[in-house]
Amino acid sequence: MLLGAIADDLTGATDLALMLSRGGMRTIQVIGVPRAEDVHVLSQHDAVVVALKSRTAPPQQAVTQSLASADVLREAGAHQLFFKYCSTFDSTDNGNIGPVTEALLAFLQTSMTLACPAFPANGRSVYQGHLFVGDTPLAESPMRNHPLTPMRDSNLVRVLQRQSEGSVGLVSYTSIDAGPVVIRKALMEAAAAGHLQVIVDALSDRHLLDIGQAADGMPLITGGSGVAMGLPANFIRAGLLHPAKPSSKLDAPRGRRAILSGSCSEATRAQIGAALEAGVPAREIDANALIAGNVRAEDLRDWALKQDSNRPVLIYSSANPKIIAEVQERHGRAEAGEAVEALFAKLGAMLADAGFTRLLVAGGETSGAVVQSLNVPGLAIGPEIDPGVPWTRSSGGRDVALALKSGNFGARDFFLKAWGLLQ
Ligand code: ADP
Repeated sequence: MLLGAIADDLTGATDLALMLSRGGMRTIQVIGVPRAEDVHVLSQHDAVVVALKSRTAPPQQAVTQSLASADVLREAGAHQLFFKYCSTFDSTDNGNIGPVTEALLAFLQTSMTLACPAFPANGRSVYQGHLFVGDTPLAESPMRNHPLTPMRDSNLVRVLQRQSEGSVGLVSYTSIDAGPVVIRKALMEAAAAGHLQVIVDALSDRHLLDIGQAADGMPLITGGSGVAMGLPANFIRAGLLHPAKPSSKLDAPRGRRAILSGSCSEATRAQIGAALEAGVPAREIDANALIAGNVRAEDLRDWALKQDSNRPVLIYSSANPKIIAEVQERHGRAEAGEAVEALFAKLGAMLADAGFTRLLVAGGETSGAVVQSLNVPGLAIGPEIDPGVPWTRSSGGRDVALALKSGNFGARDFFLKAWGLLQ
């Protein structure tokens, strides 16, 4: 094994696994902290991506799970560790990016790492330490109103510093644009200046590739999946990796199709709009009714079974920020989120039992909840639907094809076109 990654949510893990498999690495995604007895199986892959559900967990829990995963990954032979978080840096001032990174640095007995959430192909760029979503600063983007991690400061040096004990530095555009040699020198200077974590600017894929090259041999890298773009090449150059060809279609189990969406992100709501316009049979879940006990997974399953079996069905709780704010005010942010996630988790397993073996799930937390209840231990990575979102097939456990979409990802016709890549 060459690269061992720990992702703070499931869709992020899939996104990273896809990036590495596109770079020629034989990659497997593991759901939850891997078991010590799986070391041998894990060590057969070029890259292992551990999917945790730690983004909004209490910091101590996120740290413990990340360290336990790091331990198994190192035991399986990982040359380099990668801590993956969202390209919109989703976190609160209480963690978890800073605490987990600092714990991993201590575990690896190393004194510096870079932090690079940028993913220009998905519109996330970092300039002078400020994160942009398209042409909008993060704090003015829809991320401002995220149900769990509202981002109200675009300056990542400040955001990360508030979560961290050690100092946070910046390597800015001028150095990044000058190529890998200068980037590496700037990182070393930042380390010498006492910075433990260094935010790096990145505005293009070339920057990501150069940062990846500069990070060759660094014990720990942190960031979004974008910066992983340059990592397979390091292993190929070193003669450690003989690249494999990624697949173009997923061999999926026979069965019916369903879309489950708990993501309230703008991109997801547009995708729901496109599916409704196309006449996809759909049911909307009202969070107030759900919390009042008036929505049952059994009824939604029975409704799904009554629909035309040649079409996918869509079940969604996705609502606009005004409705979400009202629900959260009335019931509490965490309580509302958990109620919706619990429903989708139960529904996902019920649908799979009823023959819906091809599932598309929108939302990072929502996907985590659904996969947990499906009891799927690992995912083999298949073809890419849109940047960052592949089809996957369960490896062990229940046999299902799953596309797990981070809320912000995917084109407007995502829910319609994704099925074309299954055979
Ligand atoms: P994304 O990837 O878009 O961030 P997530 O699934 O990670 O999506 O997060 C969305 C959160 O919002 C989940 O916790 C989900 O349960 C919650 N949620 C979904 N629909 C509603 C709703 N109608 N009211 C309140 N919370 C909701």
